[in-house]
Amino acid sequence: EKLIRVQLPDGSEKELPAGSTPLDVANSISPRLGAAAIVARIKPLNASATAAAEDSAEAAMYGAENTHAEHLADLSTPLNEDVSLQVLTEKDPDALKVVRHSAAHVLATAVLELFPETKLGHGPATDSGFFYDFYRPTPFTPEDLKLIEGRMAEVVARDEKFVREWEPREEGLAQFKAGNDFMKLHFVEKFTKPDDEISLYRNGKFVDFCRGPHVPSTGRVKAFKVMSLSGAYWLGDEKNPQLQRIYGTAFFSRKDLDEYLERIEDAKRRDHRRLGKELELFTVSEEVGAGLPLWLPKGATIRRLLEEYILGLEREMGYEHVYTPSLAKVDLYVRSGHWAHYHEDMFPPMDLETEQMVLRPMNCPHHILVYESKLHSYRDLPVRLAELGTMYRYERSGALSGLSRVRCMTLNDAHIFCSPDQIKEEFSNVMKLVERAYRDLGITKYSYRLSLRDPANKEKYVDNDEMWELGERVLREAMDSLGLPYRESKGDAAFYGPKLDIQLADVMGHEETYSTVQVDFHLPSQFELKYTGADGNPHRPVMIHRAIVSTMERMVSYLIELYAGAFPLWLAPVQIGLVPISERHLEYAKKVQQQLQMAGMRVELDSRNEKMNAKIRDFTMQKVPYVLIMGDKEAEANAISVRTRGKGDQGSQPLDEFIVKSKKLVEEKSAQ
Ligand code: ATP
Ligand code: ZN
Ligand code: ZN
Repeated sequence: EKLIRVQLPDGSEKELPAGSTPLDVANSISPRLGAAAIVARIKPLNASATAAAEDSAEAAMYGAENTHAEHLADLSTPLNEDVSLQVLTEKDPDALKVVRHSAAHVLATAVLELFPETKLGHGPATDSGFFYDFYRPTPFTPEDLKLIEGRMAEVVARDEKFVREWEPREEGLAQFKAGNDFMKLHFVEKFTKPDDEISLYRNGKFVDFCRGPHVPSTGRVKAFKVMSLSGAYWLGDEKNPQLQRIYGTAFFSRKDLDEYLERIEDAKRRDHRRLGKELELFTVSEEVGAGLPLWLPKGATIRRLLEEYILGLEREMGYEHVYTPSLAKVDLYVRSGHWAHYHEDMFPPMDLETEQMVLRPMNCPHHILVYESKLHSYRDLPVRLAELGTMYRYERSGALSGLSRVRCMTLNDAHIFCSPDQIKEEFSNVMKLVERAYRDLGITKYSYRLSLRDPANKEKYVDNDEMWELGERVLREAMDSLGLPYRESKGDAAFYGPKLDIQLADVMGHEETYSTVQVDFHLPSQFELKYTGADGNPHRPVMIHRAIVSTMERMVSYLIELYAGAFPLWLAPVQIGLVPISERHLEYAKKVQQQLQMAGMRVELDSRNEKMNAKIRDFTMQKVPYVLIMGDKEAEANAISVRTRGKGDQGSQPLDEFIVKSKKLVEEKSAQ
């Protein structure tokens, strides 16, 4: 009998008869592991390294299996050669993908049982669950989705084994043709070669063309939910039939699923587009255009506070502020390289009498010209030019979202012109500035990303290997000496150089770039920038591009979601709501309003002829930090009765005392 060698992750080895399965291996380690096992990660021990090709997600689902590379395999796969093998359980995120993809089979099983005329597309796992594409002349209704979810539970309860079967390609194609399964036909033709056998998976009566792997049986899909339905044209072509994509999600446990559903609810509650409307922060008008939000007075107040805050910080850190126009001649962008590398993200140029103008997508060229407006000696450096720079980018309409991705935006921008030996210190000062700003704004969840070019993309990035390597080295050294952890991401660099991006995550864990620091050797050389060195000779400065709090648009969208609209006192558009108990107390309320305003507080007086409770409720809905109530007693004592957001009635206080306390809270930027 032939034996095979199985190498385990801890380095130990087992010998088993050829034909044994990963489940046998798991059971031989311990029956507990056998029961917990979901799928196996396998790599042949004698495979050549070159065979380890990367598959696209689709090819991975349908393509010929690359059994030479490390791959995931069913627990029932017969092992016939020496392998290294890892048994995956619920501890491994890759196993969750397998559960989710298996759930897609369960979904398709349920759909075909209920609606047998349906044609199947494909059903991959996604980052947050899975989907399956179906074709059916009648659209699914919300009630259908409920029925389908119920039937899925039955398929799970039947605990049907996922069994792999093989079929000659021609037979499979003939079957799909006969059944008018146009999508399956397409996938088989695209992802298999003429002499391949095609891989099918069966559970009960349901069979799907698929490469796997799957969980051992439908019963292992323990916690799932059908989420939503959307339409899409087959292969994205509107001449093709419209498919219906059913989205679902699945988790290892009910508890994980419930937590996820709660997170979604929380995200909806915090959604800045919804709160922007409810709290009257911004609006988007059809007549102005998509991606061009209008800031309403309350939103504008938050933005102005943010702007004043950041300008103050920058002044402390030795920045000089400038104003520059948000358009320029096209030639300027030809020289900077934006025209060659960033053209697609710019609005088309405008033809004037004798020249072509274009809206700027970045502020760097203008700041370069400010630098150039006079001669610089090494003693002036670093020159730190900052601006709340308004710029325009042609974001595609599908990408636009509320304030977080817009077409007209104002960036907290600056360009630092320094000598090469100043880069490190300037970089670390920028990082300190970022951390200070995040602390003041209450932002705690962020990570660092080193964004590199994709060397294969010659269109998008300036072609100068030496410069890229230098930029990358400088950023790495700076991060390492600050002891900050980062991950790398290819294809996210600016066209002129690598960036250090600071990524903030939203409630759903979705990340966006907010702050960014970029070391640039390209633009200084394009514009032949100079300073006079200690040696009396001309030298080339280095440029650091940096944005601390991102664009006002994106940062305000983040703050709205972070605080769910309940802004800390220093950022709240209305800090104090005033409620006179009756008409009689209006006079006193106006006096209080005046005093608070003189003290620099933002106050709103509700003088409507409404019940006191209705007024309090309205301020509460607007998430105003303090509501002050005034009746006879208060008027006599020059006092107010205080209701604090989230804490309720705090009783009566002398007005002077309240003013001193709240001013201190504003200064400290504390929550409340
Ligand atoms: P992204 O990858 O988000 O498109 P980018 O890499 O093109 O951004 P930069 O040129 O570095 O961005 O711009 C600086 C910052 O401006 C970004 O880090 C981001 O926070 C913000 N920003 C970029 N595009 C937009 C937009 N369309 N709407 C709002 N803010 C934006
Ligand atoms: Zn499958
Ligand atoms: Zn720049």
